[in-house]
Amino acid sequence: MSVTKQSLLNETHNPQLSSWLDSANLPNTDFPIQNLPFAIFRVAGSEQAFRGGVAIGDQIIDLAALSKLKLFDGVIAEALVACSQSTLNDFMAMPASVWSALRAALSQALSAGAELEGELRRCLVAQDEAEYDLPCRIGDYTDFYTSIHHATSVGSLFRPDNPLLPNYKWVPIGYHGRSSSIGISGQAFPRPKGQTKAPDADSPSVGPCKRLDYEMEVGIYIGGGNELGETIALDDTDQHIFGMCLFNDWSARDIQAWEYQPLGPFLAKNFASTVSPWIVTNEALAPFRTSWQRNEADPQPLEYLSSERNSALGSYDVQLEVFLETPTLREAGEAAVKLTQSSFRHSYWTTAQMVAHHTVNGCNLVAGDFFGSGTQSGPDAQEAGSLLELSNGGKQQVELANGETRTFLEDGDAVVMRGYCEQAGAKRIGFGECYSLVLPAKS
Ligand code: MN
Repeated sequence: MSVTKQSLLNETHNPQLSSWLDSANLPNTDFPIQNLPFAIFRVAGSEQAFRGGVAIGDQIIDLAALSKLKLFDGVIAEALVACSQSTLNDFMAMPASVWSALRAALSQALSAGAELEGELRRCLVAQDEAEYDLPCRIGDYTDFYTSIHHATSVGSLFRPDNPLLPNYKWVPIGYHGRSSSIGISGQAFPRPKGQTKAPDADSPSVGPCKRLDYEMEVGIYIGGGNELGETIALDDTDQHIFGMCLFNDWSARDIQAWEYQPLGPFLAKNFASTVSPWIVTNEALAPFRTSWQRNEADPQPLEYLSSERNSALGSYDVQLEVFLETPTLREAGEAAVKLTQSSFRHSYWTTAQMVAHHTVNGCNLVAGDFFGSGTQSGPDAQEAGSLLELSNGGKQQVELANGETRTFLEDGDAVVMRGYCEQAGAKRIGFGECYSLVLPAKS
């Protein structure tokens, strides 16, 4: 089946479309009318119930308030009822055609000149005044390992003689993570403690992690799932991928190095992981999809991981950035300094391949399940998505723009991730921010 990007686009992607809300028309806003991402929010510090919202400019459309106005009927009314709850799971479980119908209705109602402007203005809440919760109950969380650049450089640090294991180019590698410790942007968590063993030590010891790191990842939310025993075919995955966010998979490298063999990551990963509040929908990302290619010298993917559609449109050109806010910068009132930038398009495996592979054995995905893409390091050394790589395993100081240095994170450091998509002929859209702060270890 041949497919072009044009076939995925509709009036909601039209770059000429503008909103009656001025802040949505500013050139650098993350949330123009072409984006319309979903979150769970309430007014900060209030006793209000959390409910669904859609970002527009510097405001949020309160979907529970909109539902009560009864401006829509049919599946759009049903979708708004689902979005009025404290999690988006029921909405995400609806067919992709319903996600699309709600997006089209909101796009029309928010467009410049819309008849519903007055009604929708009654549903606005300023983003400045909002606090967020996880957008859904995340039942299961799987972290993949899809950047071959990350896998090769980390592999060469942990196993210099054997950096890339032979299965890497055949299997989208992943492990089952823990969802209870996934938190929303703004979270602060104590430095983890655990068991580590220095290479020259006779025996391990327990104490605060000395090599705390971030991982720059894309988070992928599954909408409608599959029955146990059924598979999701590669070309059907757009019906199951609800959207994406920014994801910081905090990692304790010293704990990881000692514990990871033979069963993989465990306590080095499950003390905290942070998601950005907004889910940018798969539909909003359509203009930024791009071709996916496998180097001819590498093994070509097996049949269930290969299709014309996946080759034509499987990759997403999402720019990912990491910034570090040190206590010194914070106290001086200065902005966080940039550590890295790369793009999700360098991923060795596509999101469609992750979904198809995850279900090839009949594993049942459920609405609200979450995938981490794995650390997204680009081909160049400065595009590395972790400090482990930027500091060459802690052997080289990373120089910050303000003269400070780091090998790994210190107490009081905050990591800020941002993401955006830019493409000729499309309106720029952004992901907002994923912020979290490292506290001292508990005594
Ligand atoms: Mn990870």
